[in-house]
Amino acid sequence: MDALHSSFFDHLAQTSPDPIALDIVHAEGSWLTARDGKRYLDLVAGLAVNNTGHRHPKVVEAIKAQCDRYLHVIPYGEFVQEPQVRFAERLTGLLPAGLDSVYFVNSGTEAIEAALKLAKRITGRTGLVGCHKSYHGSTHGSLSITGNEAKKYRNRPLLPDVRFITFNASEDLSLITEDTAAVVVEPIQGDAGVRVPSADWMSALGTQCKRTGALLVFDEVQTGFGRTGTLFAFERFGVVPDILVLGKALGGGLPMGAFVASREQMQLLTRDPVLGHITTFGGHPLPCVAGSAALEVLVHDDLTANALRMGALFKELLVHPRIQEVRGEGLMLAVELGNTDLVRRVVRGCLEKGVLGFWFLSCPTAFRIAPPLVIREEEVRLACAAIQDALETAD
Ligand code: PLP
Repeated sequence: MDALHSSFFDHLAQTSPDPIALDIVHAEGSWLTARDGKRYLDLVAGLAVNNTGHRHPKVVEAIKAQCDRYLHVIPYGEFVQEPQVRFAERLTGLLPAGLDSVYFVNSGTEAIEAALKLAKRITGRTGLVGCHKSYHGSTHGSLSITGNEAKKYRNRPLLPDVRFITFNASEDLSLITEDTAAVVVEPIQGDAGVRVPSADWMSALGTQCKRTGALLVFDEVQTGFGRTGTLFAFERFGVVPDILVLGKALGGGLPMGAFVASREQMQLLTRDPVLGHITTFGGHPLPCVAGSAALEVLVHDDLTANALRMGALFKELLVHPRIQEVRGEGLMLAVELGNTDLVRRVVRGCLEKGVLGFWFLSCPTAFRIAPPLVIREEEVRLACAAIQDALETAD
């Protein structure tokens, strides 16, 4: 082991007993280069972050230009910072009426926390509803509505008054009542191994929320920004949330989260008590300009259409007796092998062949395909050949 790797294990807190431990020195488009010069085709995109590819020139240019203007000047919400205003203006312009006010924070989980607080404020209720198998982040509020006991049991007590519903179970919708402040749903579940609910169930969910006055919160931290073949996954279902939660690709490769609601509702955070949610670094100008530039690239280059095309190509090419199913939409895919050990061997095999894949924390029998949305046809073909090869030799 070299000195850098030793130090990685000795001095940097670890989250897993078995990290991939690649030492990347350069990244561009859909490719990563390690210190030893080996190149890897990236099917992970920093876990659904680098939608416009690594170091897109427009994003890098925007970051450099902002570095020459100013960095942090004051905690969120006091100064008129043009990067924040312009980004919020552009984002809300792409969203339905009613989602017209953006609050920028630092991560997906912080955005979930703040959305829960806002929902309680708006409704005056305390009940929360989450979904079985969901993942919403690692802080206490997010864990409370996460439907995965393995992630939660060490952290109890968590928030009280939380119920869980299952995708496509109509009978569960009666758990949403006049006491429910918010129902938090990933419109397509990510960490669960990419699970797509039926359009009928989503529509019934929307109706039940309207009937009971419960707010519908869509967690699009992973599904947002073209990943599933529409700019936001909720567009596919024709159900508009009351609060939209964003993260990951939002910041164009820099850390950022956000929640979006109506201006009237967002105004509740300014009184009784004032400063209803505060953050020092939320809306930092660097992720704002990077996110703005990435959004322009996404729209201008129609990367959502590329996500659809390349997603379909993956599905067409990934046919093998060991593959039980390729689930998902656009470039948010799960390759189901039905065998945890095989998944590990195939992911390792792909890595040796220069293709970076990754498993799901809550669905160890499948591995994910979530590359940058700029991935090209020849790269998809190369990735699929490596996966087929790894499947053949994974004994
Ligand atoms: N929500 C979803 C759907 C996620 O996939 C994640 C992270 O994977 C989060 C929330 C939490 O985001 P973050 O890791 O930025 O806190």
